[in-house]
Amino acid sequence: MSRTKYLYLAKILIIFVIYFATAKFGLSLQAVSRFATLIWIPTGFSLAILLLFGYRYWPAVAFGAFFVNLFNGAPPFVALGIATGNTLEAIVGVYLLRRFIDFRKSFDKLNDILTLILIAAPVSSAISATFGVSSLLLGHVIDSSAYTTTWVPWWIGDLISDLIVAPFLLFWLQKYSITIKPLRILEFLGLLLLALAVGFVVFLGVGGVTTTNFPMRYLVYPLIIWAALRFGQREVAIIMVIYSVLAIWVTMLGFGPYAYKSISDNLLFLQFFMIITSVTSLILSVAISEKRELEERKDDFISMASHELRTPVTSIKIYSQIVNNKLSEKKYIAARKYLGKLDDQIYKLTSLIIDLLDVSRIQSGNLTIKQEPFNINLLVTDTIEALQKTTNDHSLIVKGTIKKEVWGDRERVYQVLVNLLANAIKYSPDGGKIVVQCKDFGYMMKISIRDTGVGIEKAQLQRIFERLYRIPKDRKGRVFNGLGIGLFVCAEIIRMHKGKIWAERNKLKGSTFHFTLPISGDAVLRRKRILSN
Ligand code: ADP
Repeated sequence: MSRTKYLYLAKILIIFVIYFATAKFGLSLQAVSRFATLIWIPTGFSLAILLLFGYRYWPAVAFGAFFVNLFNGAPPFVALGIATGNTLEAIVGVYLLRRFIDFRKSFDKLNDILTLILIAAPVSSAISATFGVSSLLLGHVIDSSAYTTTWVPWWIGDLISDLIVAPFLLFWLQKYSITIKPLRILEFLGLLLLALAVGFVVFLGVGGVTTTNFPMRYLVYPLIIWAALRFGQREVAIIMVIYSVLAIWVTMLGFGPYAYKSISDNLLFLQFFMIITSVTSLILSVAISEKRELEERKDDFISMASHELRTPVTSIKIYSQIVNNKLSEKKYIAARKYLGKLDDQIYKLTSLIIDLLDVSRIQSGNLTIKQEPFNINLLVTDTIEALQKTTNDHSLIVKGTIKKEVWGDRERVYQVLVNLLANAIKYSPDGGKIVVQCKDFGYMMKISIRDTGVGIEKAQLQRIFERLYRIPKDRKGRVFNGLGIGLFVCAEIIRMHKGKIWAERNKLKGSTFHFTLPISGDAVLRRKRILSN
């Protein structure tokens, strides 16, 4: 067996053990009808694992769920039914997150969190609850009168796990950089201590005041807000875990603000509170982080933009002085040479201004594209010819042809090609081949631009298309200037053409950018059909 297979099996084993242990723990806590527990860590755990490592780890979930239910006294086929539900739950959860959003695993966009809260978590948990409770019913472990009373806690237990455990793991298992500042660490320790103290007061009460008569639950919110405002999602997730552990522990002991009835009823009340708190904290922390990140990007952008604008302006000033001198000395040939340089700088400045205008047009929804057929082959060769003139270190090569005409805006598609090719040149500082592959699929065409440059980290493959997102240094510490708007504008232009754009890491070196566009025949037909209807 190869090393990767051993590694895969070892990982499966570790996931299985963690799944089994956390599931056993959950089932030991006052499970409704012996199988529906309100504290079910495995759901969030398996969602995070499949998201981070891929669908191929599903067997660990299936075996974990099967054996834990078998050991809990379920007949084998009931355990199999429950395990099927639990496995499908994780797979469907991941599928929905990937289906509805350009999911980046890091959960750092409001859209990601809302998709988790509103779609992925409730739907996938319902699958598990339905499979599980129906298996119990078919196996005569419960009778039909207990169906709903078992289904609801099952669903809620899984849901809350997706809302607390999965984000916690996803936030903390991602790569991130820590800057150690003593004052920040001190502040965070203060926050943790206070969170613990507030947790004890809220869930255990103080000075003989029972928290059932005098509920102080709302006290948890200021600390969550503090963590969100001053720190980030990771820290908010820690506070949520502290509160969850304290709340569940106290409620299990029969105390706390939810000590109304039987322990399983109390846990249910508690879980409603936990759902509201986790949803609030997730949305708040992500919204604040998103805003903070955009602010930081804007600050970087302003300093980069002034630098990028100043360079050509300074050059223009110098060249115009030189031209002036040469003209007064009647050195016309030299003057013409500098006029050429002057022209290059004016071109740079103009394209920068056009890019900036495009960004503001996209923001205000005013970017328009023409709809006309054009010859994309010619456009590709013209662009390559023009860009080849700007470099001696790179060789630009075209492969393949696109037979039919493309439907869209020639100038805008030219802009995309220039942007992608200029990036391929810029991010291949050691030179090399840049291959432009054209493919004709009949109803659409695909252009792929492959370079052998610095490459892009997997986690950033989608992010680079965001507004102002850029990676200022490569792994060797080489600095690249830019504004982080080129790919954002490209993505918008391609989106408006009903095409797709994406980036890939090459196996050996560098990256490949692909984009697709509809071919005119199909688009004309579609237009005719729409008009004739
Ligand atoms: P800019 O190049 O001005 O920073 P872009 O929007 O064109 O902005 O690109 C965004 C980011 O994507 C860049 O900062 C760079 O890190 C990355 N990138 C774009 N094209 C390539 C490429 N061909 N190879 C490696 N990284 C790239």
